[in-house]
Amino acid sequence: MKDKLMKESISQWTKRLDVMHYVNRDEHKSISTTLCGKYMLGNNYAEENQDREDCKECRNKLKEMGE
Ligand SMILES: [Zn+2]
Repeated sequence: MKDKLMKESISQWTKRLDVMHYVNRDEHKSISTTLCGKYMLGNNYAEENQDREDCKECRNKLKEMGE
């Protein structure tokens, strides 16, 4: 997943207790929602939670974008 993230301006986003969501930085400069439409409020805990399970909806969106 990492290679793909670098290539397509995708970043990770999660709360303290949440699955790992993904964000398209190109598309969401002003909207600030994840790929599954969740608002990114508060701090991002993605860096310290790399082992977090992926959000299924975000992963489906990534798949649509990638293939
Ligand atoms: Zn999500």
